[in-house]
Amino acid sequence: MFSYRHAFHAGSHADILKHLTLIHLVEYLQEKPGALTIVDTHAGAGIYSLIDGFATVSKEADEGIYRLAKFTADQLATGKPMSAGISNYLECIRNENGDGDISVYPGSPFILARLLRAQDRLKLFELHPKEIDILRHNISELKQAKQIDVYAEDSFARLKGLLPPPSRRGLVLIDPSYEDKQDYRYLETAMEEALQRFATGCYAIWYPVLSRRESAALPDHLKKIAANHKRSWLHAELRVENAPKERRLQASGMFIINPPWTLEKHLAESLPILVKALGQDNRAEFLLKSFEA
Ligand code: SAM
Repeated sequence: MFSYRHAFHAGSHADILKHLTLIHLVEYLQEKPGALTIVDTHAGAGIYSLIDGFATVSKEADEGIYRLAKFTADQLATGKPMSAGISNYLECIRNENGDGDISVYPGSPFILARLLRAQDRLKLFELHPKEIDILRHNISELKQAKQIDVYAEDSFARLKGLLPPPSRRGLVLIDPSYEDKQDYRYLETAMEEALQRFATGCYAIWYPVLSRRESAALPDHLKKIAANHKRSWLHAELRVENAPKERRLQASGMFIINPPWTLEKHLAESLPILVKALGQDNRAEFLLKSFEA
């Protein structure tokens, strides 16, 4: 337990799928002026260097954010359009880097913090003894810090206590490391409890696509949970390669409960481009399915 450090994976294809989706969810929910409460149940350190430390060991950003940035620049240079969703996502990443090249990658806490309006609140959970200190320090430097609560607590146990939020408008990102295979079971229980207390919330769950039984079964389990509560869902996966050895993560997915009606179109535009930009072999592909309750 606690060997996972997100810095190894910052800016990977999995982060791209997750954060591209997340930005769209926040921006859609902010179309109404009412206060929005956002819960990030598995926060990590908040922001990561891509030019020193763990990220330089794994180099996952080379096949992720750097590849996407280059693909986009090449497209634009030849007069080809880029999807608005990908351009918007890249702008969020670039904004964190000032005028220079991309050298830092914002994790979900920073992406979310930057999007907060004055009336919104962000609640971050992190259990790792080192990550929580780094996260607290990073968040304290932000001008939005007063709108953000950081908890060194087990979010699976605490989530239900935060729901429904006072404004009854809420987005919950659930992004475990799945280091402990029990995380799948904890997540399913937390989702059941969350929907009992706050059925209309928007829930975004990230998961790795692995051959492990719990991972393969997760989307179907989430569909059943959504059906039990008569909720709509959207399911997206991005596979960048199908190499024979599982040395690194080849595919990941997002499962959204109560997705905005705009999300499917947004992902239908962006996912084929991500397959082209990030695909490593001819088995790169995406999946996009939804169900309206
Ligand atoms: N959401 C982050 C992002 O997109 O930038 C990445 C988070 S990383 C995949 C998962 C984090 O959850 C790790 O830093 C891990 O220490 C933390 N964690 C694991 N179990 C947890 C729990 N039960 N409650 C809160 N945090 C937990």
